[in-house]
Amino acid sequence: MKPAPIEFFAPPQIDELLSLLAEHGESARVLAGGQSLIPLMNLRMLRPEVVVSLNNCLDLSYCRATGSHLIIGALARQIEVEDFVAVRDICPLLASALPQIGSIAIRNRGTVCGSLAHADPLAELPAVAVALDAEMLVSSSRGQRVLTASEFFVSELASAMTPEELLQEVRIPRASEYAGAAFLEICNRQHGFAVAGVGAQIVVGADGVCGETRLAAMCGGPTPVRLVRTEKLLAGQRLNEALLKEASHVAQSEVEPGDTPHADSTYCREIVGVLVERATLQAAEASRRKRLAKYDER
Ligand SMILES: Cc1cc2nc3c(=O)[nH]c(=O)nc-3n(C[C@H](O)[C@H](O)[C@H](O)COP(=O)(O)OP(=O)(O)OC[C@H]3O[C@@H](n4cnc5c(N)ncnc54)[C@H](O)[C@@H]3O)c2cc1C
Repeated sequence: MKPAPIEFFAPPQIDELLSLLAEHGESARVLAGGQSLIPLMNLRMLRPEVVVSLNNCLDLSYCRATGSHLIIGALARQIEVEDFVAVRDICPLLASALPQIGSIAIRNRGTVCGSLAHADPLAELPAVAVALDAEMLVSSSRGQRVLTASEFFVSELASAMTPEELLQEVRIPRASEYAGAAFLEICNRQHGFAVAGVGAQIVVGADGVCGETRLAAMCGGPTPVRLVRTEKLLAGQRLNEALLKEASHVAQSEVEPGDTPHADSTYCREIVGVLVERATLQAAEASRRKRLAKYDER
């Protein structure tokens, strides 16, 4: 299928792009990697009159590490961030989640910011952003504002951005030196969207006690869910079978999955419980291995 006719712009400068978004408002859509927008337009589920591509705004193609954050610009492709070696240390949860997005062909074009702006509750990156308290730099011709991930995701496929705004960059806080992470999900088919998933990033101290613990789930609810009560239960504790079982129960009570064509809500809730146990264990193990590797180096 082909999309309905559109007026197409691909300005090289961000100011020009923001002016076009201001001029066309609700009738315009930003085109980033096109991996979600183009299928929706082809299926006539979206019918923008104007498409404003950011693919010529090369100044937006960056992924860099600062002392406090990993900063990813609007045009950075998912594969570029995946290949940025420092991501494994600075942001292990993002490094664990990225390879699970579709296939390499999708990640070659799809952008990190495009996935966040699309706000699909069953996409990996919004769950990562919520777990890690990412900040979204949103720009328009009127100026800029910074939203936290929990402010940014409003509902299914809806963010707090207005039509004239652009997600210019995402800033993800740098993880502690010994943070370990795991992003686990269940899919009905290879390279398909997940039915449910859980991301965990945990720091285990030299004494074996869980320190900073971050958990988020994606499971058919309108937005990704930060598992706050499960985090509180685990922090300050040594992991054992009974504690993991309790974490699984608490996590299941924190999510409100809806029925989807791929899985009903009961099944999704149970998957979240199982994945919380597994992701917590794997993230804690990764943290322990990091600490041991550092001791070996000394
Ligand atoms: C076969 C297939 C499998 C896939 N599997 C997965 C998967 O397993 N997990 C997953 O998470 N995703 C999956 N995707 C989607 C993929 O990750 C997309 O790349 C992503 O959702 C959107 O990124 P994009 O850069 O392609 O954005 P686009 O498709 O260009 O845009 C998506 C939406 O966001 C808006 N937008 C884009 N960038 C910005 C911006 N900077 N500011 C404001 N608005 C913006 C657009 O206007 C549009 O509404 C899959 C896609 C396909 C086709």
